[in-house]
Order: sequence, then C-alpha cells, then structure tokens
Amino acid sequence: MSHVLDSILETVGETPMVALHNVVKGSKHKFFAKIEYFNPGGSIKDRVAVKIIEEAEKRGELKPGGTIVEATSGNTGVGLALAAAVKGYKCIIVMPQKMSEEKRALLRAYGAQVVITPMVDPDHPMSHYNVSKRIVAEIPGGFLANQFFNPDNVAQHYQTTGPEVWKQMDGKIDMLVAGAGTGGTLSGCAQYLKEHKPSVKVVCADPVGSILYDLYYHKKIVDPPGSYKVEGIGEDMLPGNVHLEKYDGFVRVNDQEAFDMTRRLVAEEGLLVGPSSATALVGAIKFSEKFETPLNIVVVFADSGRQYLSKAFNDQWMVENGLLKEEQIKDSFNRVI
Ligand code: PMP
Repeated sequence: MSHVLDSILETVGETPMVALHNVVKGSKHKFFAKIEYFNPGGSIKDRVAVKIIEEAEKRGELKPGGTIVEATSGNTGVGLALAAAVKGYKCIIVMPQKMSEEKRALLRAYGAQVVITPMVDPDHPMSHYNVSKRIVAEIPGGFLANQFFNPDNVAQHYQTTGPEVWKQMDGKIDMLVAGAGTGGTLSGCAQYLKEHKPSVKVVCADPVGSILYDLYYHKKIVDPPGSYKVEGIGEDMLPGNVHLEKYDGFVRVNDQEAFDMTRRLVAEEGLLVGPSSATALVGAIKFSEKFETPLNIVVVFADSGRQYLSKAFNDQWMVENGLLKEEQIKDSFNRVI
C-alpha cells in the first residue's frame, strides 16, 4: 500500500501556489498566493505545531501522557490539538476573547480544553500569555509550546515553507509578503529565500493598531496599540520570532481594506481565505506600487475563510462593526424564502 500515509500529520505542508487574476487587475506585477488552508487543520500553523511537538519529544521536554499548553489566537491551537490527538497528548489552549466562535468550537471538537482570557495588556496577569505560563507551571508533565519565542517555529518555515515557495516559483520570485503574528513565517522564509537570492524583498503587512510597523521604522512605539478586527496578525508586544532585521519593509492595512478584499477573494478568485490573507494581499499591492519593473510577488494566505463565516461573511456582523453599509447588504445573502 505505497500510497497510504501513516497518519494525517503527514499531509502537513506541500500546499499549492495559485496565480491571482481578477483582484490584481491593473497592476504591472504578477501575484501568486500560497494557499495554506490545504493543511489538515486549515492553516499554516499546522506546520509549526507538528515541528514544535516533534522537537520537544526529541529533547525529552514532552513525554507520553504529557499536556501541551499554548497561548494562541486559534490556528496554532488547532494544529497542536490535531497533533495531540494523533500522538495521545492532552492539550490546553488559552485564547483571547476576540477570537471567533468557530475557532473555539473547532478546538473543542479536536478535544482541546479551551480557556478564554479577557482583552488586556500582554503584561496583565490575565493576558493569554501569562495565563498559559501559570497553567503550565501548575500541571505535572506540562509543556508550553511557546510559539512566540520557540526557534523551532522559524526553523520549520526555513525548512519547509521557504523551500516550497522557491521550488514552486522556479526561483523566479522578487518579493514575499505575509502578516506577522509570531513572525515565524516571515523570519523563516526570509532566511531561506535570501540565502538563495539576496535581492528577494520580504515585506510584512501589518494591521493598523499593531505596534510592529512603528518598531520597524521608528525603533519605538509612536501610535499606541489599538484594536482591530483582523485575527492572527499584528502585535502589542515584540515576539522573539519577529526578526525585524531580516525584513525589507512594512506596510499598513486597515480593517476596511482587509475585509473588503476578503470578500473579493472568494467572489472573484474562488479563494475562501481569512482576513489576514487579504491583509497580506492588500499590503502586497500597496507596497509594490512604488516599483517600476514588473515583479513576481508571492503572498502567503495563512488560513481559511470557513472560520470567519460568523464575521467577514456575515452581513449583520459587518454592518455592526462599521465595515458594511446597510444598503450594501445583498438581498440574496440573508433572506429566508
Ligand atoms: N494569519 C493567521 C490567521 C494566523 O493565525 C497567523 C498566526 N498567528 C498568521 C497569519 C501569522 O503567522 P506567523 O505566526 O508565522 O507570523
């Protein structure tokens, strides 16, 4: 049975690269999207979850019967819970209140215990960072995945995402754009791509309200951290895996731009992706405008739109959050016949 995989974990990675057409009409550049929702848990974070667990097993930090604990906006949690299910570990996920109901439900479906924390500063004792640290200290056999600082996160993108992009593009890549949550995607891809072609530009698309843009251009926080609706990217602290010195630029994208593009991507390209993917594309379009010669630009689409059906794809939620006007609601969308 040479075509049978040993477990679902072997389907992580090797995601497709797809050319974009309608949403980038008018640009002189070519845009290609790495579609990470093809991973079994539905996001790019499956790669990182599997790597962090396997390296912890090798180092003896995670032993049979152990409990994996993590602070996450959801996607890493799904990856960890998926791997924990296959490998027989318990899993506790600590998640800020803002994250979508679908993500909580998904984690519970995978068998994880979900702890929801209030929206407070990262230093606050009730922040998802600090609550996860407290939980792991209290549980015998507890292991904190620590995706924001664990170098295995960056290493996985250096060893898989970066090489896949390089191979799929036959080396004909001029720029890569992605958002940064932990920074793992950008830091690992930057390292790999620049080793093969130093002129490749690696750019971070940052939500308005994140402090990373200021830290990159001003070395300090100019605009205080603000709230925004896009999930999974942008930060109110500097994660150890955000390696600013490896990036070539930052571009800011607001919620309106991100949610408009989220809807366009499915309507015009058939790509049901989340708002962080749309942020990356809007950022790529904006940042590339200043380049005269046509470029090949790869944009990382981190997760699926399925976990935002109650938000980006819900007209009522869009109206309540000021992202859609009442008169823009499409009749067919919500009408019960
Ligand atoms: N988009 C989404 C939806 C995510 O959940 C994440 C991870 N937080 C990212 C993008 C960013 O990935 P990274 O952690 O590698 O910076």
